[in-house]
Amino acid sequence: MHFRWPMQPLTRCYAELLRQLTSDLSDGLARGRSRRLFEGMAKLYFHYSTMNAGKSTVLLQASHNYIERGMQTYLLTAQFDNRASEGKIASRIGIGSAADTFARGEDLFAKVQTRLAAGPCQCIFIDEAQFLDPDQVWQLARAVDDLGVPIMAYGLRVDFMGALFPGSAALLALADEMREVRTICHCGKKATMVVRKDDQGNVLTDGDQVQIGGNETYISLCRRHWRAAMGDSGTTAR
Ligand SMILES: [Zn+2]
Repeated sequence: MHFRWPMQPLTRCYAELLRQLTSDLSDGLARGRSRRLFEGMAKLYFHYSTMNAGKSTVLLQASHNYIERGMQTYLLTAQFDNRASEGKIASRIGIGSAADTFARGEDLFAKVQTRLAAGPCQCIFIDEAQFLDPDQVWQLARAVDDLGVPIMAYGLRVDFMGALFPGSAALLALADEMREVRTICHCGKKATMVVRKDDQGNVLTDGDQVQIGGNETYISLCRRHWRAAMGDSGTTAR
């Protein structure tokens, strides 16, 4: 009886260790030769944030962790109309990596299947995941379930008008695990929203959800300062 109370934190410690181990396994860190054993454990992850929080940095670091352990990864980013099919994932702090691209409407289950058939691949990383269409998010979910490969998607949660991107809405619905990549507003609170400004510095309150090649800038703010910037006094529905 007298050793009952210290047992509890110890049990919790083992539970935490076990959780980390199984999490690592499911992330593919102990895969390779034991692929079949861990096939049922792969997960679809969604790492979400607002603009300029360092998503690409986190993605590149996570991919590097696999490569450092002698494993292979497959990097994908959104293909825009005005870009070549050869993609690149670049981080604002100066690191970058070549990446394959996904186009709108492209079958990503088939793309993942083709990549896995070409050689070992322990994890798939997707940048600009907000630009996935909902069908593509389903294709990725099927790839996780049926091909047994972990997929880590990184994307923006909401657009400059405060609405979910369709790809992010589907990921929020389907992901096995979600993690927030955080950044802060100028006031020090967590930034969850973003404003779009034109080249004169004026806050834009409407426009296309996706704007490519313009001179707009994006500022991440907490919701209160985003509301102030958008002219929402809080007395009426926006
Ligand atoms: Zn703020």
